[in-house]
Amino acid sequence: MSGKRVIIIGGGFGGAQCAKTLSRELAPAEAEVVLFNRENHLVFSPLLAEVVGSSINTLDVVVPLRQLLPRVLCRTEEVRAMDLGRNEIAYEAEDGGTAPMSYDHLVIACGNVANLNVVPGMADHAFPLKTVADAAALRSHIIERMEKAEVTADSERRRWHLSFVVVGGGYSGVEAAGEINDLVRGSARYFRNWRAEEATVTLIHSRDQVLPEISPPLREFARRKMERAGVQVVLSARVISATPEGVGLQDGRSLRGGTIVCTVGSSIAPVVASLNAPKEKGRLRTESDLRLCGASNVWVVGDCGFIVNTHDGCPSPTTGQFAERQGRQCARNIARSLRKQPAQAFRFKQLGELCSIGGRSAVADLFGVHLSGFLAWFVWRGVYLFKLPSWGRRCQVGFDWAWLLLFPRDLAHTRAQQTDRVTHAHYESGDFIFRRGEPPTHFYVLEQGEVEVVRSQNGEEGEVIAVLGAGSFFGEKALLNQRPRVMSVRARTPVEVLVLGKNVFTQISSALAPLRDALAQALNRRGVDAWKGQPEAHELLERTPVRDLVQPAPRPLLHPATPLREAGRAFVEHGHEFFYVSSDGVNLDGVVTITDLVRARSGTATGDSPVSDFMTRNPIVVSSADTCAVAAAAFREYRLKNLPVVEQKNGRKLAGYIGARRIMGFVLKELARQKEGTPAR
Ligand SMILES: Cc1cc2nc3c(=O)[nH]c(=O)nc-3n(C[C@H](O)[C@H](O)[C@H](O)COP(=O)(O)OP(=O)(O)OC[C@H]3O[C@@H](n4cnc5c(N)ncnc54)[C@H](O)[C@@H]3O)c2cc1C
Repeated sequence: MSGKRVIIIGGGFGGAQCAKTLSRELAPAEAEVVLFNRENHLVFSPLLAEVVGSSINTLDVVVPLRQLLPRVLCRTEEVRAMDLGRNEIAYEAEDGGTAPMSYDHLVIACGNVANLNVVPGMADHAFPLKTVADAAALRSHIIERMEKAEVTADSERRRWHLSFVVVGGGYSGVEAAGEINDLVRGSARYFRNWRAEEATVTLIHSRDQVLPEISPPLREFARRKMERAGVQVVLSARVISATPEGVGLQDGRSLRGGTIVCTVGSSIAPVVASLNAPKEKGRLRTESDLRLCGASNVWVVGDCGFIVNTHDGCPSPTTGQFAERQGRQCARNIARSLRKQPAQAFRFKQLGELCSIGGRSAVADLFGVHLSGFLAWFVWRGVYLFKLPSWGRRCQVGFDWAWLLLFPRDLAHTRAQQTDRVTHAHYESGDFIFRRGEPPTHFYVLEQGEVEVVRSQNGEEGEVIAVLGAGSFFGEKALLNQRPRVMSVRARTPVEVLVLGKNVFTQISSALAPLRDALAQALNRRGVDAWKGQPEAHELLERTPVRDLVQPAPRPLLHPATPLREAGRAFVEHGHEFFYVSSDGVNLDGVVTITDLVRARSGTATGDSPVSDFMTRNPIVVSSADTCAVAAAAFREYRLKNLPVVEQKNGRKLAGYIGARRIMGFVLKELARQKEGTPAR
């Protein structure tokens, strides 16, 4: 039995419990247990609403997996795909690519993900409540709204800031509404410009009673108690749209809400959705022993499974209580299976239901005993304190709750201090902006200066294959392909770049059509090198320095102060297509083409307007030492016919220019000569 590997995907209630039980049931020599989870912690979701209401601290609801599961190999990586035929998973490796790992047994415990697209506008205007980041962001937003209300003179606007709509009357909706209500009303005394009566908290539910899982008298108690505390409960109402102003209902009504919280709508985790396996309502169908239907070594637990409970023959509800029991049962079945013993069916009698409704009140249905009010709230807190997976967290949460009995809720919010995700960066010439092999984390827009694209193994001594100038962008290919960088990019001169993080880039590039088009064109341009189809020509360009084909710069050089009238005369007299502009007669400041002149004339420029007003400043250049392949890449990238040549790559001392036509002529001549066997010049 040695050398077996059990992989668990998902470190939530089901996966973590499965890993914990496996590490107890199996000796390390029997099997290695590997747990993949996107985050490095388990989220104790029943207490997320408490984070929103500032009753406990954000970190109180997360438990670090490697501290919780010391005998399990925890990997904070996302699993991208499962190949059940080859007993292999593919996970997102550190370099941004994917790597495979094989298994003897696989446990799928991916839970589900919030899906705000169930209602038009919800994704744009509502807050989900699924992750700890969701809860923290919502808490900060609510406090921000109270601060805004404090400084708003307009009473209508103030009431809008203080209006909160919670969509969904299940456990999370009811708990969130109760907590928001307590936070806002309880904090009113610290503000001078608004009173608690101006705040509205509305809970909308599509059925005729909230908390459908709980017995009717307890539901009724919850509704009445919440209404008395100031929550407006709107029943039998379906939300059909969300806007910045609030929500629209199917019956035509609209409810104002400066803050919308959506607790309805979930969809299956993407890795499960893409798996070709038997499903019911998107969830993976299992045998009674939690094995995926049709598989012998793949198991499913928690919210991503459609698991029939042998106890009552009904599908298991998607709750932490069930996920945890399934995780435990699954671990035992895997251990039995490794020992060639038969697996056992999943059978679980639910212990009860508990829901906090705010105002130190709750409803509880435990072993058939109904409790409501303060006693139920006390039991609720006791049960969840006990259910927290580590003693450290139990002590912290217990302390926070005790603190709240003596002191008010914390009103500090930290959202405004979040570091900007679009930043500027400066690099000195020679600095690498990124190197080959690094994971793609950013997209760059070059604001000033030039960079060179380097093809090399370690980046240091590589061959330059292209130069990019101000206004260009780079780093898009690896991001779009989700592959490690295949080239390095190095600053050629001091450069200023605008840096967009991966997520910002993905969001902007998918939403902004012009950027999408520009990216598609760049990918096309950069991917298609006509010379590459002719290896001899490409090789020739790579070994021929620009200095061999440089031509003298068109004379005279224009001064930035040269008036348009005089520049026009120069074009007529000398018959050039462009002139270079230099203030000292040595260094390049800009370039003027006939097109620039015509555009300036048809615009606001007069005959006295100086050339500096309409020239292209700091144009892209190549240096004498660059190869003609670099010049060819620049012609392609910028759709140019000629490029200024400078003596040193990090300077601007003009050496002449190089033309696409000249390169073309040179290549054709050299290739013909090679064919004929004529000796080189
Ligand atoms: C606000 C709220 C309140 C709740 N209150 C209660 C309550 O009071 N009582 C109760 O019993 N239940 C409650 N629930 C439901 C309960 O949280 C879920 O039923 C339970 O978490 C499901 O457990 P799970 O293991 O299936 O999934 P989860 O706990 O959601 O864990 C899934 C994990 O898998 C990870 N993952 C997903 N895909 C991948 C991948 N491809 N690679 C790596 N990792 C991946 C995720 O990051 C996540 O950590 C509540 C839920 C919410 C949102």
